[in-house]
Amino acid sequence: MRETEKRIAPPADFAIIGGGPAGLMAADYLSRHGQKVTLYERMPTVGRKFLMAGKSGLNLTHNEDFERFITRYGDRLPFLKPMIDSFTPSDLRQWADDLGAETYVGTSGKVFPKAMKASPLLRAWISRLQEQGVVIKTRHEWLGFKDEGHIVRTPDGEVFIKPDATIFALGGASWPKLGSDGGWQKEFAAHSIDFEPLKPANCGFDVDWSTGFKERFAGEPVKTVVARAGDHRLQGEFVITPNGVEGSLIYAFAADLRDNLLGNQKAMLTLDLAPAQTTEKLTQALQRQNSKASLSTKLRKAAGLSPVKIALLRELPPLLPHEDIVDRIKNYPLTMQKPRPIEEVISSAGGVCFGALNEDLMLTNRAGTFIAGEMLDWEAPTGGYLLTACFATGLHCVRGALQWVSQK
Ligand SMILES: Cc1cc2nc3c(=O)[nH]c(=O)nc-3n(C[C@H](O)[C@H](O)[C@H](O)COP(=O)(O)OP(=O)(O)OC[C@H]3O[C@@H](n4cnc5c(N)ncnc54)[C@H](O)[C@@H]3O)c2cc1C
Repeated sequence: MRETEKRIAPPADFAIIGGGPAGLMAADYLSRHGQKVTLYERMPTVGRKFLMAGKSGLNLTHNEDFERFITRYGDRLPFLKPMIDSFTPSDLRQWADDLGAETYVGTSGKVFPKAMKASPLLRAWISRLQEQGVVIKTRHEWLGFKDEGHIVRTPDGEVFIKPDATIFALGGASWPKLGSDGGWQKEFAAHSIDFEPLKPANCGFDVDWSTGFKERFAGEPVKTVVARAGDHRLQGEFVITPNGVEGSLIYAFAADLRDNLLGNQKAMLTLDLAPAQTTEKLTQALQRQNSKASLSTKLRKAAGLSPVKIALLRELPPLLPHEDIVDRIKNYPLTMQKPRPIEEVISSAGGVCFGALNEDLMLTNRAGTFIAGEMLDWEAPTGGYLLTACFATGLHCVRGALQWVSQK
């Protein structure tokens, strides 16, 4: 605990706006340190996206080596590292354990609560916040800044609040029906707060499939392939969708693919559809096939290609005389047309710029106002990196907020 955190008496009045993981973590820390905390959430309940994240297994964090872990935040690493240093994946596991949600490490290194779902953890967390005196005001929507305070729409009309310090944790813009719709961008722009417009992250992409291909293969996994783009090379799998492609392998390349498309450049992954076989072995195996057999039979027998991989090859223009099928199998060009809409993707990139904040995540042009979670300008792949940074930034900014209030 920092020295200043022991000294705030009487307690200060903190408003936390947004009841997702970042806001709840901020509320937890402040209330544990004896502060008066009111949490404002526009939806009828808090943590809706957190609950949704738990639908297919709540991936809280990742167990890989810490030095590797933090590289997942790309060029935002210098900003986020001190925060994640103070709340590491091990700390996160301990925190979940303290709430009765013991975790385990899956085969891929991802960390999940044993119950897999988010609901037991969220229930225990809300009970603890209530015991610590946090006042949770649901159906309370932040509308905008007014003088030194804020306008909040409540079920009984609009009210003006003027806390000692405010933590914004309004999230990004994916899955807006769960509460975070990026609506804050308009008001922040009007108050000259620098942010990068929100855009899709960890997203699928549209691909120009033929009608026959999508009718037959939508929903089909393509496994196992190696994808390459520039120096980046990764083995994994993806899923064919009616519009294009989805899945963890695609998400791992999504940031660069999206940025290429936004910059009007080509966005392409090169796939190795038969990564277990070398070009030489594949060529020999194909040559050994009965010359009267169909190409599909040869590809199935010699290269072990599944029907969906064979159909992918058929999506390309016919081979020219100088072209080689083996080259297509080992260097399959998968061209993306556009990212899927932000409403349906896992997370968003963009957000309040670190340049608009001090090292405690306080807005430099609005003293006493702190920002946490996905609302900040960073992005990371799936694998537990998103929640880890949301928790860590929620915690970091309230440590700063306590210090700031104590010095007022
Ligand atoms: C389907 C899905 C699966 C996911 N799975 C994982 C996973 O397994 N692991 C992982 O690490 N991440 C996962 N994520 C991402 C993760 O859930 C988010 O990164 C995280 O919830 C962001 O936390 P946050 O607190 O910043 O924002 P949010 O969780 O978005 O919370 C923001 C809150 O602010 C409220 N709010 C917004 N505007 C206002 C306003 N004007 N007034 C009052 N309240 C407002 C919203 O209603 C919301 O409750 C998943 C996301 C999705 C959509």
